[in-house]
Amino acid sequence: MPKLVALDDGHGIHTAGKRTPIIPELGRSIRENEFNRAVVRLLKKELERSGFDTLLVASTDEDVSLKNRVDLANTRRADIYVSIHYNAFDGSFSGSNPSGIEIYVYPGTLNKESGKLANAVGKYLRQGTKQNWRGIKEANFYVLRESMMPAILTENGYMDNKNEALLMVDENFQLEVAIEHAKGICEYFNVSYVSAADNKSETGFTDVSPNASYAEAAKRAKDLGILKGYPDGRFLPDQTLTRKEFVLALMRLYDKLR
Ligand SMILES: [Zn+2]
Repeated sequence: MPKLVALDDGHGIHTAGKRTPIIPELGRSIRENEFNRAVVRLLKKELERSGFDTLLVASTDEDVSLKNRVDLANTRRADIYVSIHYNAFDGSFSGSNPSGIEIYVYPGTLNKESGKLANAVGKYLRQGTKQNWRGIKEANFYVLRESMMPAILTENGYMDNKNEALLMVDENFQLEVAIEHAKGICEYFNVSYVSAADNKSETGFTDVSPNASYAEAAKRAKDLGILKGYPDGRFLPDQTLTRKEFVLALMRLYDKLR
């Protein structure tokens, strides 16, 4: 049975506060959830590619309560709970501007499974974009306390530090953070991380696992030039075929057989 990872994007998009100061270059503030939900969406893909099941505990833009988030993870018996956040200090770019990454676990669990998970994720979060590593800390946060499985809450930068605020909407940074979480989670469960490039070189598509029942068929169809993927390298196995895609594939097949 694949392990089930509960993914929590922290807040609703409209939750009061939970945003950067106005950024003159953008002419607006960035909401914390813009970053959190982007990372959760990417992390879901990274984990599923590596063989995990995922559970989005707040899959819409509504402001889902912490209780509902945790209740869902508990009811579905998720194996771990991962909550993605961006930190805040004083809500201003002036004055002292702390920066960096920290990971929270429930008090007393540093040497337990949550601490082990935090260590594995922290090892990878420290890589990539250079950021201050503030360490693994304990806090009596609702989602850490009420979840029945090992749980971590990651703060991936500071919203009131201008440089880190701008990173929130940097798609490369979002992907990097998602991949780092995925690598740490894989390491915690002793599973090998499968990158999009690994899949592409084996099956021709970033989102087709070599283990998928249709992997060989998809690869042969691609090699024969009958089916193409999307320009970004994905096959989108669960996408429905439109009539125009069908007729294109059909005529490519006809030309091949003629
Ligand atoms: Zn937050």
